[in-house]
Amino acid sequence: MNDTTFAPTRCHISLAALQRNFARLGDPATLMPVIKNDAYGHGLLPVARALAKAGARRFAVGTPSEGIALRQAGFKQGIVPLLGGMSQEDWRACAAHFLTPLLADGEDLRKAKACVRHDRPFRVGVKFETGMNRLGFGQEDVPELVEYLRANPALEPVLALSHLACADMPEKDACSQSQLRAFAAVSERLLAVWPNMERSLANSAALLGLPAAHFDLSRPGIALYGGNPFAGTERETLGAGLEWVMSLSTPVIGIRSLRAGQSVSYGHMFTAPADMTVAVVAAGYATGVPRSLSGRLEVLARGRRVPQIGRVCMGMLMVDASSLPGLSSADVVWLLGGPAEDGVAPVTAQELADKLGTIPYEILCRFGAMNERIYD
Ligand SMILES: *Cc1c(COP(=O)(O)O)cnc(C)c1O
Repeated sequence: MNDTTFAPTRCHISLAALQRNFARLGDPATLMPVIKNDAYGHGLLPVARALAKAGARRFAVGTPSEGIALRQAGFKQGIVPLLGGMSQEDWRACAAHFLTPLLADGEDLRKAKACVRHDRPFRVGVKFETGMNRLGFGQEDVPELVEYLRANPALEPVLALSHLACADMPEKDACSQSQLRAFAAVSERLLAVWPNMERSLANSAALLGLPAAHFDLSRPGIALYGGNPFAGTERETLGAGLEWVMSLSTPVIGIRSLRAGQSVSYGHMFTAPADMTVAVVAAGYATGVPRSLSGRLEVLARGRRVPQIGRVCMGMLMVDASSLPGLSSADVVWLLGGPAEDGVAPVTAQELADKLGTIPYEILCRFGAMNERIYD
């Protein structure tokens, strides 16, 4: 939650849309929804509550502190901090709160072992490196890993996990296939010793597009929030039906008439080609609107798309309201989503991401972190 913003922009979160996306992704028993980084900007606790109501039995979070926040709010589900512990304190907290952190190297093993309590096992996940080249045990580490875990039975491995680097890129299927084979092989060796371990490889893209990667648990993130990992690719239809969960509105705070030849905002980057009406709205780069998109944005006002003009300011931006004669400070405009007229498509996080040269994940995290959220 962000208590430090006094901005008037509102992030609307549709928990009903979130639940519909979750239901669309399959049997809850086979899913570990990813709610790291404040649920991709949608709010950790409200999102977890809505998913729990929809049947979620496990959650993947980023940090142990996110897991602790869930426990303190009363969640009894399995909770996997994907980053593992970042300090000895973290590992202790994971053990104390029955979290299932990921171990990614020998140092993690030793730190986790130091937190084992005599009265109960410390359940952990094992992260394997199969092609991302980020974190995780390699093939060659397995004998030592197995030996260590056998020698320390209070450290109980319950999950084997790896992460795909290119699952959303159909042209790089060979990379996913190679990771899939490596993961199957390496996890097999642990399964031989701990037959009840669950295996998890698939993110949203692999859940939708690579059934062979499903194993026991899939870990959808972006798809929960309405993002289609295959947007713009030949597999786009695999994500059809997902609904964006976040919308963003902000009030109109002024209307002004501009005569032909007059310019708007810092740097006078926009000059009116003809007499026009301009609406000033209360959103800017301090509320997450990238200034680098100045003059390239559109917003939804009274159900129609209108172009944004001139430089985006810290807390204001201007739109061409000439086509909306009645627009006033009683109106809000929508930077994402919102009610649209027939035949008009609301602005999506994907559209903003494409313009900005990024992915919708970044847009959602940014808007969610910088604005007050309200839930339907
Ligand atoms: C973020 C993350 C996911 C979710 O990925 P999406 O592309 O959002 O579905 C799954 N697994 C791990 C390890 C992650 O870090």
